[in-house]
Amino acid sequence: MAHEVTLIPGDGTGPELIEATRRVLEATGVEFQWDEQPAGEAVYGDEGTPFPDRTLESIKRTHVGIKGPTTTPVGSGFRSVNVLLRKELDLYACLRPCKAYEGVRTRFPQTDIVIVRENTEDLYAGIEFERGSEENRRLRDFLGELDVSIREDAGISIKPISVFGSERIVEAAFDYAQEYGRRKVTAAHKANIMKFSDGLFLEVAREVAERHPEIEFEDRIIDNLCNQLVSRPEEYDVIVLPNLYGDIVSDLGAGMIGGLGLAPGGNIGTEAAMFEATHGSAPKYKGQNKVNPTALMLSGVLMLRHLDELEAGDRLEAAIAEVIRKGDRVTYDLKPSRDDPSAVGTSQFADAVIEELEAR
Ligand code: NAD
Repeated sequence: MAHEVTLIPGDGTGPELIEATRRVLEATGVEFQWDEQPAGEAVYGDEGTPFPDRTLESIKRTHVGIKGPTTTPVGSGFRSVNVLLRKELDLYACLRPCKAYEGVRTRFPQTDIVIVRENTEDLYAGIEFERGSEENRRLRDFLGELDVSIREDAGISIKPISVFGSERIVEAAFDYAQEYGRRKVTAAHKANIMKFSDGLFLEVAREVAERHPEIEFEDRIIDNLCNQLVSRPEEYDVIVLPNLYGDIVSDLGAGMIGGLGLAPGGNIGTEAAMFEATHGSAPKYKGQNKVNPTALMLSGVLMLRHLDELEAGDRLEAAIAEVIRKGDRVTYDLKPSRDDPSAVGTSQFADAVIEELEAR
């Protein structure tokens, strides 16, 4: 039976990347029934919202979506589609596999880590008190009663981390490790300084780890983790982090495997899952058939596995890896020099992946 999936082209380079990804997903032989829905800048112009209700309704019905990047114009009052999606669908776990494929120029060729980032809490929860506002003054007055003094000219952001939020993200990391035969989970934190938020995250992580004795568990202070990732990446496997550290380490991971064009992602919740690349809409390359579709294609691999199409997922990943290893039909960012005239476009990269799939 065909899988019904919500397909969101997005804007900027999103539509070209989604088209290339749709073609390789279909070439695996898995059947899809796509429900194409808009989001981002293009629909904002026509409908006054970057995220129409019909798009959300579609995902709630299909429970799974794949999305091209969407632009968030600075200072427009237009909220990020990704933040809206995460909130509306409670997509609490962000999965970011970072694997260095043969043929990519990187100083960290042994990297094969999976970052599991909490998506709903922490300093990202958006609980902020603007400098000079009445709310800010009242909060400082209240803290003053507790003998906590904050300068009058300070802006304040609050960092909530709960047992509920920590438990479900650490469980998600162990579940992933179990399902994909990974050997170890590392929890990253700054519990030595933030005892009641990061400390709680660590305490809960240790409790969850006890329920999974077959998977090794360790913890690392976040600064030490960053240092070790770039000196001994091969020692790391699945890494689970609160929201802000997860955001930063995801980009570190993308850099370690050769750049944003290669880093896939999935946002998973209880009711739905949305797959998308780590990178943004790269608007300066819009319509040029230029950017690398690998990150979105590998997000498609994650989606296939989520849909239990494990064999097709493995085959698609192997075909992408083979095109990258051969190196002759890859986009500009994977060539030794960025102005290499032999670089191919987004759509020709997809053709090469389809040929590899057909040869398997
Ligand atoms: P970006 O990721 O769009 O691009 C930064 C640079 O990275 C590009 O100029 C390009 O050189 C390179 N790059 C990105 N994707 C690539 C690819 N597939 N192949 C080759 N090179 C690639 O980041 P930005 O310029 O900071 O953001 C542009 C817009 O995207 C902003 O509005 C931002 O809010 C939005 N954004 C959206 C998402 C999302 O939809 N998930 C994520 C991040 C940023």
